[in-house]
Amino acid sequence: MSGMKQSILEKAVHKRNNMDHQCEKCGGSTTYSIVMGTYTCNSCGYVEKDNYGRIKDLLEKYPGLSRIEIASVLHISLRDLNEFFENDMLVNPKNSLLG
Ligand SMILES: [Zn+2]
Repeated sequence: MSGMKQSILEKAVHKRNNMDHQCEKCGGSTTYSIVMGTYTCNSCGYVEKDNYGRIKDLLEKYPGLSRIEIASVLHISLRDLNEFFENDMLVNPKNSLLG
């Protein structure tokens, strides 16, 4: 095993570049927005959110949530969640709650 670990950002870029995500409604090809964390179907227009998009959405609705609360609401592991914050992709006003 190599110690090389892809960051979530790198994975997201990789995913976007490969365009391998299919629309869950019609199976059409999708376009990924790294800014929004969404896949938009090129055929039917259905918008699907990845973890980044879901966290971003949740924080917009409930800006006071701690990381533990976000992780439990969205069923994302804290380890995965922390990567988003460590890469400065997301900012949580209550970061200090979890040292
Ligand atoms: Zn579709």
